[in-house]
Amino acid sequence: MKKLNYINGEWLGEDFETIDVLNPATGKVIGQIPNATTEHTNSAIEAAHQAFLEWSKKTSNERATYLKKLHSLILLNKEELARTITLEMGKPLQEARGEIDYANSFIEWFAEEAKRIYGETIPASATDKRIMVLKQPVGVVGAITPWNFPAAMITRKMAPALAAGCTIVIKPSELTPLTAVKIVELCEEAGFPKGVVNLITGDPKEIGKEMMGNEKVKKVTFTGSTRVGKLLMEQGAKHIKKLSLELGGHAPIIILDDANVEKAVKGVIGSKFRNAGQTCICGNRIYIQPSIYKEFMERFIQEVEKLNVGNGLEENVDIGPLINEAAYFKVISHIEDAVSKGAVVESGGQGEEIGKTYFYKPTILTNVNHSMLVMNEETFGPVAPIQLVESDEEAIEYANNSPYGLAAYVFSESLSRGLKVVEGLQFGIVGWNDGAPSTFQAPFGGMKESGLGREGGRQGLDAFLEIKYVSIGL
Ligand code: ADP
Repeated sequence: MKKLNYINGEWLGEDFETIDVLNPATGKVIGQIPNATTEHTNSAIEAAHQAFLEWSKKTSNERATYLKKLHSLILLNKEELARTITLEMGKPLQEARGEIDYANSFIEWFAEEAKRIYGETIPASATDKRIMVLKQPVGVVGAITPWNFPAAMITRKMAPALAAGCTIVIKPSELTPLTAVKIVELCEEAGFPKGVVNLITGDPKEIGKEMMGNEKVKKVTFTGSTRVGKLLMEQGAKHIKKLSLELGGHAPIIILDDANVEKAVKGVIGSKFRNAGQTCICGNRIYIQPSIYKEFMERFIQEVEKLNVGNGLEENVDIGPLINEAAYFKVISHIEDAVSKGAVVESGGQGEEIGKTYFYKPTILTNVNHSMLVMNEETFGPVAPIQLVESDEEAIEYANNSPYGLAAYVFSESLSRGLKVVEGLQFGIVGWNDGAPSTFQAPFGGMKESGLGREGGRQGLDAFLEIKYVSIGL
């Protein structure tokens, strides 16, 4: 099944070289996409540039109406979209359905927020002057998205961009482009004018370079690795390209001795093993106080051992395959490194490599310390390393001792202790007794090397708006 690129309202790229899309649960080819070139990226940017004039002039009510139509089409096509995610990305179908709801919630939210792009009037210091602040769309947006949330990472960027009056060129991950194609098909069905939404697939280096170097692209919004985020910043320096970056994480989970063990176990499992540990806000390292350790561990091991690993399309599967060979060997290398330095495998510790598919059992490591890779780098797999900490202060210090600052978690029933930990954490998102903090109303994003800017919430729209003030002499 060959899918095409969408440029200026037309499906193009029939004659291009293709890239195979694989199902990570079977290793089989499930589709093909065009390997588009710089030239085609340029055409997509040009189309978005041409369309901007009309689209940005539409009223926010009109733009909201298109987004609401898209929202209802996604609802109608939820099952097909969810199956596409599971087929190309591997997450269990139930989780994929959850992702579609999450993805669609951004469309609804930003359709509503489109109507609230308020400016300001500021009292002037001269009686014969007035000051007015306007917010206007930034222009053509380039969106580069990752494979771990093939739908939500697109809508979290596309919906606010379109709501703000921007036009967009989307470059999904070459590993999971089929969900993107389906979303763009639905944009076409929703009737967005040609050129407003464009989709391009192919070599990320070439497409990325063109997006960063082309002056007609006024803003690039990226979710992916810190390595590529840094590269984009360098490439964008020439034109001071506006950037939103949602990059890697290395989330700590702090379990204080007054935590509710049931909430902590549920929260840690939700945070750690969702998407087989392949999310940038997955708990990556757990710090726990000694007096709650034994009770927590008993319940945690019991619950983790109930998780089933397999093909996400099958019933009762909780953990799907890892995305590819590199992801699998990263998990193995983190576990081997930890064990060679004294870590103990309390559960799991086994992988299964069949043909081109890579599954790994949820794994719990104890007796870990900061000399180990697993406590320093994002594992992006189902591995939960657990380290004992004495005081709340020590837990905060360990948690902050990382260049990353995306998400962190704390489990505590005490208002004052919990709040002190929350305030001490250098992270953009904190889940307090909550292993799943992501939601459309809240500003998602990271501190330090985890990124720039926020997505979702009221703030999510600001990323696509310029501020202009007008000083009026009377
Ligand atoms: P991950 O390691 O999670 O796959 P990446 O940062 O490699 O994260 O990928 C995230 C997105 O960035 C994908 O769409 C990928 O194609 C794209 N990408 C990868 N390398 C580059 C690059 N040099 N320039 C622009 N985009 C890139």
